[in-house]
Amino acid sequence: MCRVVGVFGHPEAANLAYLSLYALQHRGQESAGIVSTDGEKLRAVREMGHVNDIFTATRLKDLPGHAAIGHVRYSTAGDSSKKNAQPIAVDYAGGSVAVGHNGNLVNAVELRERLEADGAIFQTTSDTECIVHLIARSRERTLPERAADALRQVRGAYSLVFLTENSLVAVRDPMGFRPLALGKTKGAWVVSSETCAFELLEAEFVRDVEPGEMIIIDERGLRSVHPFGPQPPRRCVFEWVYFARPDSTIDGRSVYRARERMGRRLSQEHPVPADVVIPVPDSGVAAAIGYARESGIPYDQGLMRSHYMGRTFIEPSQHIRHFGVKLKLSPVREVLSGKRVVVVDDSIVRGTTSRKIVDMIRGAGAREVHMRISSPPTVGPCHYGIDTPTREELIASSRTPEQIREFVGADSLGYLSLEGLHESVNGASDGPREGFCNACFSNDYPIAIQQPARLRQLRLISA
Ligand code: SF4
Repeated sequence: MCRVVGVFGHPEAANLAYLSLYALQHRGQESAGIVSTDGEKLRAVREMGHVNDIFTATRLKDLPGHAAIGHVRYSTAGDSSKKNAQPIAVDYAGGSVAVGHNGNLVNAVELRERLEADGAIFQTTSDTECIVHLIARSRERTLPERAADALRQVRGAYSLVFLTENSLVAVRDPMGFRPLALGKTKGAWVVSSETCAFELLEAEFVRDVEPGEMIIIDERGLRSVHPFGPQPPRRCVFEWVYFARPDSTIDGRSVYRARERMGRRLSQEHPVPADVVIPVPDSGVAAAIGYARESGIPYDQGLMRSHYMGRTFIEPSQHIRHFGVKLKLSPVREVLSGKRVVVVDDSIVRGTTSRKIVDMIRGAGAREVHMRISSPPTVGPCHYGIDTPTREELIASSRTPEQIREFVGADSLGYLSLEGLHESVNGASDGPREGFCNACFSNDYPIAIQQPARLRQLRLISA
């Protein structure tokens, strides 16, 4: 539940990294950090809290140099403390290196036990630190070679940025679970988890970093290598459903357009006579617009989200994360009273929030409430970097859609089919389903996972 950025070749690299992080804090966050280099020394600022609270003008002045990497962490269920804030920066025999990670290593426990048995002392409970130890122990010569050597030993999801005194390295895992994009602004290279960050930097989008690709940027320019054997890609389909910002494009597919198509398809799969279509803001907006356009039912805003509630709610100790909580909503009685309402949301996780939303809409005088979900039932947890509840907590893992409808109290409930989801993301009815991970909807996990109980026991957290 993180995002990463990297900048190389700009006199105010840390400022650009700050702006990029600002664009990526759309899901609320737990910690943020930037590490910069002036060619001689790495300097780091990492704190708990929001980007704009952490990075004051004075602090940014403490981060001089032509290159920088940054990281934001969302609220997770794991150990939440400053020691786990990233980028992690260390000195080792080969020099200094900092790393920022978005994803989750599924063999982190095994790696950690092996490294500890070999004398490694861990400073954090983050799975990312395994990568740092593996780099320090590598017998390869350069950082890109050491990083490739380390990453050949890990399994799982990662989009990574590394910074040394004089180079920036960006890597996307061979299956491409998490996005990573390359841009350019005023002669400087920029890498970012999401393209929406480029807009703020006035950077042009150059291309996506390919699954399995390593990009090395230094004073000689940009080089691309593919240090891992080819593997079938497994891009996280949930990025398009919920996680990415709608103004981002991932691997050539617009997030907004994909969501709008999900809504259109949902309307075809689950039509219902109604007076108004409303979204659960903000993630349901594009799908609700699609549903309204396809069905011809007017779109309106029947629920308002307070944009000022975030800081009160974003506390990991309260298990505040996407799957558990929507930020505070209030109904617009004028839109809902006396109406047959279609309410569109991106997913139902435990069901308790959906039940409150249905209650709220009825309480505002709606005659009927029809819930439409722009993804299939969430039947399994994610092990590749999205923080989800356990399988037992997921309502769709043990109940049928009809039982869920009863639980949330809606007059009808319709989920988008898996085929509909893939066709919406691809934008073509014959688009391949291969190339995506959809495990939380299908239980078809592309990489075998370690025992969750053991993971919890070690309290390892993902980035
Ligand atoms: S399990 Fe779901 S959330 Fe996790 S990577 Fe796969 S599609 Fe994405």
